[in-house]
Amino acid sequence: MPRVLLVEDEPAIADTLVYALSTECFEVTHVLTGADALAAFAGELHDFVILDIGLPDMTGIDVCRRLREMSAVPVLFLTARDGEVDRILGLELGGDDYVTKPFSPREIVARVRAILRRTQAARVGTSEAATASAPPAASTSQGVFHHDAAAMRIHCHGRRLDLTAHEYKLLLVLLEKPGRVFTRDQLLDHAWEDPGAVTDRTIDAHIKSIRAKMRASHPGAEDHIQTRRGLGYLLSLD
Ligand code: CA
Repeated sequence: MPRVLLVEDEPAIADTLVYALSTECFEVTHVLTGADALAAFAGELHDFVILDIGLPDMTGIDVCRRLREMSAVPVLFLTARDGEVDRILGLELGGDDYVTKPFSPREIVARVRAILRRTQAARVGTSEAATASAPPAASTSQGVFHHDAAAMRIHCHGRRLDLTAHEYKLLLVLLEKPGRVFTRDQLLDHAWEDPGAVTDRTIDAHIKSIRAKMRASHPGAEDHIQTRRGLGYLLSLD
């Protein structure tokens, strides 16, 4: 049974989640504060953390930062406001996903399952990749972009972009066909192992974050990722 640590200070929300997760065969530990979460996690390693952002003693973001010092455990954030999403993604805390309140308990269970599948598959994939003798990956330059395939890094204007795994995959999809418009569904399909677990808004938030990182790499430059309203995104090389 996967062990889930639920950190949520609102009893009504916590109760429905504990119930939903328990009936779906998760072992749930519920705590109400950040301090209790850290103590619980240090005492017994959990397979998954569901983390409310608004906690009485510290923010969920602080809790995640402290968790990251101990573990790469998957974290699903619960947020009360859309505005918090940019902070979560922008801080690169390694949060695996987020859900905005109000949500259905079923939705949370589905997300937890999807993320666990994804992280377990990634772990298996990593160990397979390490043992297989993969051919050396090629590096390519296109316009102001340079892709170092072996290091899985993308440079823009000569500066390395500090991208999360999903941002890297997203930008790579766009880079493969500059000038082509990709719909959000297509980007989800290419960059996420389990596209059903995320929403269009996740794509928008990641694109926003990539744009910010590109701007930081070369202040004053044009936006290389363009939005086609109602259609999707495309990358221009110049
Ligand atoms: Ca709260």
